[in-house]
Amino acid sequence: MNSFKDQYPQLEIDLDKLKENLAALIERCHDSLVEIVPVVKGGNSLPEIARVFEKCGVKYMATSRVDQLRTLKDAGIRTPLMLIRIPMLSELESVVAYSEASLQSDITVIRAIDEEAKRQGKIHNVILMIDLGDLREGFWDAEELVRAAVEIEKERKGLHLLGVGVNLSCYGSVKPSKRNMQGLASLSADVEQAIGRKLEYVSGGASTSVPMVLDGTMPYRVNMLRVGEFVLTGQIYGCCPDFTHKDAFTLRAEVVECREKPSLPVGELTVDAFGRVREYVDRGIRRRAIVDIGRVDYGDCEDIKPRRKGVEVLGASSDHTLLDVHDVEGELKVGDILEFDVNYASTVYLTGSRSVHVTFKSKEA
Ligand SMILES: *Cc1c(COP(=O)(O)O)cnc(C)c1O
Repeated sequence: MNSFKDQYPQLEIDLDKLKENLAALIERCHDSLVEIVPVVKGGNSLPEIARVFEKCGVKYMATSRVDQLRTLKDAGIRTPLMLIRIPMLSELESVVAYSEASLQSDITVIRAIDEEAKRQGKIHNVILMIDLGDLREGFWDAEELVRAAVEIEKERKGLHLLGVGVNLSCYGSVKPSKRNMQGLASLSADVEQAIGRKLEYVSGGASTSVPMVLDGTMPYRVNMLRVGEFVLTGQIYGCCPDFTHKDAFTLRAEVVECREKPSLPVGELTVDAFGRVREYVDRGIRRRAIVDIGRVDYGDCEDIKPRRKGVEVLGASSDHTLLDVHDVEGELKVGDILEFDVNYASTVYLTGSRSVHVTFKSKEA
């Protein structure tokens, strides 16, 4: 990943807009006493992004991968880091070394990370995860979670039980609701009863839980959200508020071919570059353009949206994106640069692609 302003494909990240998105969300959650833990995995934990989030004064910053925790530490990020993917037994040494807190759902791992924390002379913070139906990580049996909580509190001297949490709308697409958030709140009460003290945090999910805080339906006890997508893209499915920027990321790609061709492939059809049978609509002869960026760089071509009027994404192979530009007003020629909006899914690919030149925009030096 390089950063040369005139090299393409290019992903420009507006750091001021990202900072304003996080600051605006923090402010709107403040009255509900909900703290925001910004999640930086969607931008591959680029230190430039982490640094502007740090300036917003958050208590924790989170990512899903241990190598990214290390990148953030090496870049001088001082905000305590939270690992939000439940860790492998084989990586606990790095988890303890590079993060201050982690999400946990298995007693074997909890006992091992306790040993590792003691070995490193640290106290590692733990949030116990409950599965409330999304069927990804988390204890299924609430009593088992309470037993783990008591064990951490009483016996695991290398650990501090920071709170309980839930993850929703990831695998199972389960929507955060008053019902499942009440379930989380009452679980936290059970844990507090069992350990005889209040928990610092009840962590009520990710971006999909933001709307409940904004509309005032989040139960009072939930006081932390771990938020990535909403901060990076300024929105989340079903919630597009007017106080955020939706265009912090701009993808720029260079036109390498632009000419008229038929819209229907010529010859007997088989499968495309990814082994899929495709269907093509015959729209006659159309003006088309190719830009040198492809699925290896952004994932799915439906996730990038041309900004220029009249440009339509037709499809893509690994390294090329095919555009219909027949209805573009004015000239479009080889060497021109086209801009695209990108969604959350493509952002993670683009920031991770070695062929994409990431540049940053900010009024602050
Ligand atoms: C990725 C992730 C988040 C953040 O999700 P967004 O939808 O990007 O807000 C929060 N918690 C966990 C456990 C995650 O894996």
